[in-house]
Amino acid sequence: MYEGRNTELAMQHFPIFLNLAGRRVVLSGGGETAVAKLRLLLKTEARLTVFATEPCDQVRAWADAGRITLVGRAFGPGDALCAALAYAANDDAGQDARVARLARADGALVNIVDNLGDSQFITPAIVDRDPVTVAIGTEGAAPVLARAIKRDLEERLPATLGPLARIGKAFRGAVEALPFGKPRRDFWQEYYFATGPRTIEAGEDAVPPALGALLARHLDTPEARGVVDFVGAGPGDPDLLTLKARKALDKADVVIHDRLVTPEILELARREAVLVDAGKEGFGRAMAQDEINRLIVAHAREGAHVVRLKSGDPTVFGRLDEEIEAVEAAGLDWAIVPGITAASAAVAGIGQSLTKRARNSSVRVMTGHDMKGFADHDWRALARAGEVAAIYMGKRSARFVQGRLLMHGADPLTPVSVVENASRPEQRVLATTLAQLEPTLTQAGLDGPAIILFGLAPRRAAALARSLDTPDVTSEEIAL
Ligand code: SAH
Repeated sequence: MYEGRNTELAMQHFPIFLNLAGRRVVLSGGGETAVAKLRLLLKTEARLTVFATEPCDQVRAWADAGRITLVGRAFGPGDALCAALAYAANDDAGQDARVARLARADGALVNIVDNLGDSQFITPAIVDRDPVTVAIGTEGAAPVLARAIKRDLEERLPATLGPLARIGKAFRGAVEALPFGKPRRDFWQEYYFATGPRTIEAGEDAVPPALGALLARHLDTPEARGVVDFVGAGPGDPDLLTLKARKALDKADVVIHDRLVTPEILELARREAVLVDAGKEGFGRAMAQDEINRLIVAHAREGAHVVRLKSGDPTVFGRLDEEIEAVEAAGLDWAIVPGITAASAAVAGIGQSLTKRARNSSVRVMTGHDMKGFADHDWRALARAGEVAAIYMGKRSARFVQGRLLMHGADPLTPVSVVENASRPEQRVLATTLAQLEPTLTQAGLDGPAIILFGLAPRRAAALARSLDTPDVTSEEIAL
């Protein structure tokens, strides 16, 4: 069967970068539309010939300056012979159709400006950082989108990128002295994102010597040393990743991740990165901590950039210290990239704050169970009115926490919210009270990660309870 014929999937326009140096390019038209196209074409080394009976001043000026050849008559048969490209830019549909027909007959590829359907090729939106050129095409479907992407890239790509790339290109041969793969990648990474942008501020002349020094330093380093980034992946929504986390994922050679890190986030890792699932289930099954420590160190020792990707914030119930100790003992460099912890995502999900004037000026981040089993806390302090706690890994220990708090005098009607899959499309919120926490939780049969927010009701339920003039919020599920 012949593949690639599915028109729904087919790319109508195949993007290429055409070398126009010395090639003939013809354009029919002498008004504003023609000027806009010519401005772009003048960035190339094409031999431009313009046919116009009434050329505007700008077109005349370019002709006087010898930048284009101006022919003061209408486009005719044979005018596009030997031309690589022909543009019909007459602002007149009839004229354009005539020019297109003639140019096609001469064997040129034809573009009618602002007429996608009758054009053989289109000129994309361009971000120009010569020699880096980004072309954006939407098959004419969404020019607004193309413009937005262009604007975004214009902002994101520093203006110095062009000169840096040009200078870098001249250095390519010398850099071959570095071993292929990671050492070279590291060198270029440091050049484009650190040394280059820093030195070019003092002028382009400052860059080559700095590049030389950088290369000498990289050649001196006996062997690339790995690094470990302990990165917070946030609660699950990829939009809640920090820019730093994204950058770390972009650079990673190996990503060792938790069970709770969502596939959408793993998608963002560098394509060549090796993904290792160190998924730990609740009460310590799956990969043992020692084994994870060993893996991190082994990969980093081989010179890899290891991203240890943990759900939420790595410093919250992440067994981070054990891993840092292992990495330190191996003499490796490491850094922590904080993330949005589940408690932050969960309170956002119920429209509340973790702290509030005149209600609670402190908040407890706690777990219902630790490695030894149920974790003990200062229950009496927590039982006081107005206290707030975010209880991680709370599903299994809800009954224990509930019992302890009631025993130490907490109000049975204290509001409690349970947020499952905070920030994810499947987010669920249970609004209940301390007295009802169990059996509500068990009955709900949650199967995703859930956090218990003690002392907080979803804003809507809080409002509902007030309006009914009773603090007793019944156990209900609120679809937010
Ligand atoms: N370092 C993580 C917590 C790891 S402990 C952080 O900062 O969020 C794992 C516990 O985190 C789970 O048992 C659950 O209580 C909580 N958790 C993680 N992601 C969650 C999510 N998306 N929604 C609700 N709770 C979550």
